Amino acid sequence: MTVRSLFVWDFDNTVVLDNTDTLVFQILAPEVLARQRAIICKSAGPHLWTTIISNGLMSLFELGKTPEEILSAAAEAFFPVETAAVLRRIASTPTARSVVLSDANTLFIHACLKKADLPHDQVFEGGIFTNPATVEEPGFISLRPFIDPNDPEKQHKCNRCPANLCKGEVLQRIIRDEYDSWRIVYVGDGGNDHCPVLRMGSEGVVLARKGFPLHRKVLERPPLAEVRLWDSPVELKGLIHDLL
Ligand SMILES: [Mg+2]
Ligand SMILES: [Zn+2]
Repeated sequence: MTVRSLFVWDFDNTVVLDNTDTLVFQILAPEVLARQRAIICKSAGPHLWTTIISNGLMSLFELGKTPEEILSAAAEAFFPVETAAVLRRIASTPTARSVVLSDANTLFIHACLKKADLPHDQVFEGGIFTNPATVEEPGFISLRPFIDPNDPEKQHKCNRCPANLCKGEVLQRIIRDEYDSWRIVYVGDGGNDHCPVLRMGSEGVVLARKGFPLHRKVLERPPLAEVRLWDSPVELKGLIHDLL
């Protein structure tokens, strides 16, 4: 039987080699992010990254930054040509498909893909699972957590992950809904990529970015899936070609 492969991509520091969330503030107003971080760290309750970014985006609006300026700053993230090429290659392979599983947001991801000239519904045919963001009148970006904090039914039960998103639970749901018999290939770098990776079976493959938090975590607690490391987009492209 032919092996069908689902490539599950983290976005920041994996597809693009920057963090879009911090990049927009670095470009437009670095003091805003520092201030929001300080406010959240002093507050009681969970220190949610999406809250920091969501409040920061409101501050950018108050400073007169338009959604267009913010999205073009996000699209400044470095998108390697090799990664764009390998995404196209996966999309044109009948036995392979890609999805994004990211703690960034829909608008930033779409902005980066548009700049790289990649139609999102073609390269990520399986979908983009991330925090929803929209442009609202009179011209600000509204960012909401993937999991609505006001809906008790929807909260996840994972103690490894922040309240807004457990990538592990989402990955299990994606697999259960449509990809039960597919080999999972997980591409990521971050600490929050460890949870989904730990839930993969032994036939799965993890492509972890060398020297980043996921690499350290899989050394501390290895998954059942096989781990391969990549350091550059060229290496990543080679690893993926081997799997196609
Ligand atoms: Mg990442
Ligand atoms: Zn989790």
